[in-house]
Amino acid sequence: MNPHNYATKLIPSFSVTVLLIVGCASIDVPRVPSDELAVERQLQLEHTLSVGFSQIARLHDLLWPLLQGNTDFCRGMTTRSLGIRHTSPRGETGLSSVELKARDAIFNFNGRPVIYAVAKGSPADVAGVQPNDRIVAVGNWTWTATSASEFNRSLPRRLDVMMRRDSVPLEIERDGERFRMNVTPARVCGVKLSLKPTLEVQARTNGREILVTLGMAERLDDEQVRTVLAHELAHCTMGHITRASVNSGVGLLFDLAFLTQRVWLGGVFSRLSRDAMSINIEREADYASMYLLANAGFDTAGRAEIWRELADEVTFRSSLFNTHPYSPERYLLLTKTHEEIERKRQQGQPLVPNGMRIR
Ligand SMILES: [Zn+2]
Repeated sequence: MNPHNYATKLIPSFSVTVLLIVGCASIDVPRVPSDELAVERQLQLEHTLSVGFSQIARLHDLLWPLLQGNTDFCRGMTTRSLGIRHTSPRGETGLSSVELKARDAIFNFNGRPVIYAVAKGSPADVAGVQPNDRIVAVGNWTWTATSASEFNRSLPRRLDVMMRRDSVPLEIERDGERFRMNVTPARVCGVKLSLKPTLEVQARTNGREILVTLGMAERLDDEQVRTVLAHELAHCTMGHITRASVNSGVGLLFDLAFLTQRVWLGGVFSRLSRDAMSINIEREADYASMYLLANAGFDTAGRAEIWRELADEVTFRSSLFNTHPYSPERYLLLTKTHEEIERKRQQGQPLVPNGMRIR
């Protein structure tokens, strides 16, 4: 190479480098003072937590009628419930001081436990309990400033004990006033619910608890979420997790929980399609979920649409979908199940899945 040419080639790139270095050094990014940063962090954390709590309240409300309307299918895993969710100022361990401060800002605890979710039609709702009510007494066990930490810590346990009674006397505090009310616990399927604060669109269950991601809650409308919850509840009522572990050894318990969320997504299904048991389990859950919805008083029409809607996402994300079109099958299965349920309704037959014996 001619030395002159070499030099001229070098010059442009050298200039660019110099410009970049100078460029970096010459702009003047505003400084962020640490006190302002602390305030903004706090605000954002409050926002995130309040979004999370309102989504849990929404899921709780959507799941409640399914739990209450399907005790016949819950095979000895029923429990008594008032239909509320509550939280205490220091109730959860492992929270940082920043998180505790954010929770204080959201709930206005004033040292007392706060009810943040009341399911519509639940015993608490019927008795007049409202979200943001503070619990100040259960029976004659009363909150006082000196007993506050003991009261808050043992409230869940005490409520569990009281739930065995026909009526739970609650005293609540609302806008500076106190109200006494007797709440009659209802028998419901004993399946818990939690929200995973991540953005992927997933739901899964370990057989006793349904986990929904924030991404799924935000992606789907109310009735779509209810369809998902019914699918997960069907896994619980059908004893799928237990059945899978018995058939395949202890190790599968986690695998199935993990696999369930993947199968639900559909896009990665092909990788798992060799596992015939998991396919059958998903089919059963889809089929039974429509009966859970029907028995809880919901229309099953249009429930299949969720598969068309999620299919768009799956197709977009994964070419695997084209070779293993699982969503279309699920769509058709739910459509046919809806028709089957409608026939049974018209003929006055009990709404029980074909082949199922209720113990
Ligand atoms: Zn499933």
